[in-house]
Amino acid sequence: VLSEAIELLRDLVECDTSHPRGNELWAARILRDWLDTHSIEAEIEEFLPGRANLLARVVGEEPGPCLMLNTHTDVVPAGDGWNHEPFSGEVTDGRLYGRGAADAKGSLAAMAATLVLLKRAASLLRGEVVLAAVADEEVGSAGTRRLLEHYRPDAAIVGEPTGLRLLTAHKGSLRPVIEVTGRAAHAATPDRGRNAVEGAADLMLLLRLYAADLEQRKHSLVGHPTVVPVFIMGGEAPNTVPEHCRITLDRRMVPGESEEGVLRELEEISERFEEEHPGMQVRAVDMAPTTGGPSETPVDDAFIVAARKALGKIGQITELGGLTVNCDMTHFRSVGVPAVVYGPGHPEAMHVADEHVALADLRSAIDGYEAIATELLGESSTWLPFA
Ligand SMILES: [Zn+2]
Repeated sequence: VLSEAIELLRDLVECDTSHPRGNELWAARILRDWLDTHSIEAEIEEFLPGRANLLARVVGEEPGPCLMLNTHTDVVPAGDGWNHEPFSGEVTDGRLYGRGAADAKGSLAAMAATLVLLKRAASLLRGEVVLAAVADEEVGSAGTRRLLEHYRPDAAIVGEPTGLRLLTAHKGSLRPVIEVTGRAAHAATPDRGRNAVEGAADLMLLLRLYAADLEQRKHSLVGHPTVVPVFIMGGEAPNTVPEHCRITLDRRMVPGESEEGVLRELEEISERFEEEHPGMQVRAVDMAPTTGGPSETPVDDAFIVAARKALGKIGQITELGGLTVNCDMTHFRSVGVPAVVYGPGHPEAMHVADEHVALADLRSAIDGYEAIATELLGESSTWLPFA
């Protein structure tokens, strides 16, 4: 099934599904036709013009839990600096190159191949395995959000390039826009005003102390939280003491941190600033969009224990890891579904030129997905979700 998975991956990479256009419907149709040649039926839901999710399932002999294999069909734009054609799926030296080869069409091809293997062994399974190829992960996660409105699996494996390591936690982000307000005056008489740009410079020093504090707050799998000023804009006229200055922050959160908690911390910093700067105010005035908050699945969850055991049996990495960026796992966790991220390709290959996946890793990922599914749903399994 490996050679057929490689062919599928080539076809998927050739199909340009880069954002903002997406056009995931094309990729969904390629996948549907491929599954059809393996006698697996798939349904496509086009929930916006050209934007579609695909669902396909293998049902076991006995009733039982539902495991979802979830990954995305959209990719980020190719960008510059490629030595290989970004949408050709060229195979050289045991690697397949192209935008999406690792993030995440490699996972998708491996998951589809796994479904074929599981179908051949379906009489030995209980419950069901559902493949969900979703749209829009790279921008707004519309595909997975939509899916979870009417579908609730008992556990999910989210396919992303993890170097074949199980990742049980990832960071999230928050982007508050902070405004410093002073008092305008003629620039010739600065003593009559309160300069908001100078105030923002002082506030930045407090934010540096905050960043140093955050370094102490280490999460065992994803590292420490961060705060980075990403935009600053202030001033009204070249001859006026500025009344307003705005700073946008990118605040990366680790599992255990909440949006409310972060906003409270920023409020404390504002209060300290205002005490030291009479006549000036600091307020959070807006929130720039992000993909969402952090999440994690407890490492002692029965699903994670079984997944590690399965990979151990086939000689793969059993040490857990975390992801510094966001992914669709957060949406499963927000509705209480245990989830883990696992797939072929290296995290460093994401969103860069000459993205690729090693064919050997594709093979290992198929083995890994199959091993986990069999561990959870096989004849000898004792996994009981929500037990
Ligand atoms: Zn991805």
